[in-house]
Amino acid sequence: MSLWSRAIIAMPGKTPAVVGGDLRELLEPAGLLPPAAWGSAQITAWQVEGDHARLDLHFDPPDKGFAILLRPLDDGAGYRKGKAWVISYRGQGFEAADGLLLEATLARLEAATAARGWSAQDLRFRYFTRPVAGDTLEVSPGKKLYIRVTDHCDEACVFCNATEGNANVVPSRHTVEEILRDLPAGSLSQVIFTGGEPTLIKSLPRMVFLAYERGAKEIIIQTNGVFFAQPGTLEPYLPFIDRLGLGFSLHARQADLSAVMVNHADTKRFSAKIAAIDAAVALGFRVKITCVVMRPNVEQIPDFARFCWERWGQKLTRLQFSYAMPRGNAWLNRHLLLRFSDMVPPLQAAFAYGRDVGLPIETSQTACLPPCLMPNEIEQFDVYGDFSGGATSDPDRVKPPGRCQGCNFDRLCAGVWQRYIDVFGDAELQAVTDRPDPGTPVDDYLEAELLAADGAT
Ligand code: SF4
Repeated sequence: MSLWSRAIIAMPGKTPAVVGGDLRELLEPAGLLPPAAWGSAQITAWQVEGDHARLDLHFDPPDKGFAILLRPLDDGAGYRKGKAWVISYRGQGFEAADGLLLEATLARLEAATAARGWSAQDLRFRYFTRPVAGDTLEVSPGKKLYIRVTDHCDEACVFCNATEGNANVVPSRHTVEEILRDLPAGSLSQVIFTGGEPTLIKSLPRMVFLAYERGAKEIIIQTNGVFFAQPGTLEPYLPFIDRLGLGFSLHARQADLSAVMVNHADTKRFSAKIAAIDAAVALGFRVKITCVVMRPNVEQIPDFARFCWERWGQKLTRLQFSYAMPRGNAWLNRHLLLRFSDMVPPLQAAFAYGRDVGLPIETSQTACLPPCLMPNEIEQFDVYGDFSGGATSDPDRVKPPGRCQGCNFDRLCAGVWQRYIDVFGDAELQAVTDRPDPGTPVDDYLEAELLAADGAT
């Protein structure tokens, strides 16, 4: 599902419809913004999801995962219809009091809508009209623009998420170049060339050049590294070295385990990856290594950190361990998925080692290990967005109100994949209340915006 509530960039020649309003402008006068409460029910979050809006409610006790769903009036079914809205609900154990709650909510929202003189059609256009996929590029949390220059790859990692519903796939070199020529570079923190495997595209150096010339603050190539083991393949990027970083995927310190993780029988690829990282650090590139973790490689996390430090030392900018998000191949291989808590002890050992020797080691929110699993290690989280008010970085993630209400890390937490909760439940999540939000600064777009080429919005 796309994140049309986020900032977007128009594809060349397209003029996408842009979300025209913020539902908050009706929820606020209706008295429906969190933390509005009726008796034991409290609104904890709201979010526009596709063709409807969802208000999450927490009941105390018992919590029953109740949410109010609102959409502009149409011919479909619902609990009750007003003049402009249809109201329905999601959750267990519906009682008479819940019906009164729905009636009251609808009445308030209808009144706020009537005060503005808006019809159901106005509401649909204003809040629920989304750009057509293919007309836009999404800007990810943290003002990062991922450009997938190919969806082809020469590996088939057991956790690869590029095989399911990816945004920003631009397989035409011509289109990528057009995007880069009009790049709103000033509005972005990073331009990330990814795939599939971006080094399979011969014109990648030219693309990096265009992003550099347009003023991109930071450019990243995400790669499995095998191509860069060939002599002379890194040198074309040297002119951009002051703003270019290389992100290598490496998931094991042994060839046989690496072959399992990348699902490729050729164990020689491992030595090629190592040689490529050797070459990149020798040339002075900023190098980050990402190790994605599933059952086969979880126990080696501390050893892997030691291996990286002993081989590359301070020439390595960062080492990241990512939980394999339950999408694409990781979802197909869900027998290899880990419980969050299985990852915590080896991660903490690696963090401690990194602090001892001076190697920055982090875990990623992109892949979503929620910070409440390790509240003492919040400094080791790659924090990149602002998810205040129960928001999540993706509509497929959630913050279960019964677990997350009152969590002081709400602003920094991207939410948990609903699929994870479907498999493992939410019992590991625990609202952080014994310490404050650490105040980590984040820079992000919070609402839908169409970014202009000159950097203005
Ligand atoms: S309790 Fe919920 S909001 Fe808090 S860190 Fe955990 S998942 Fe995120």
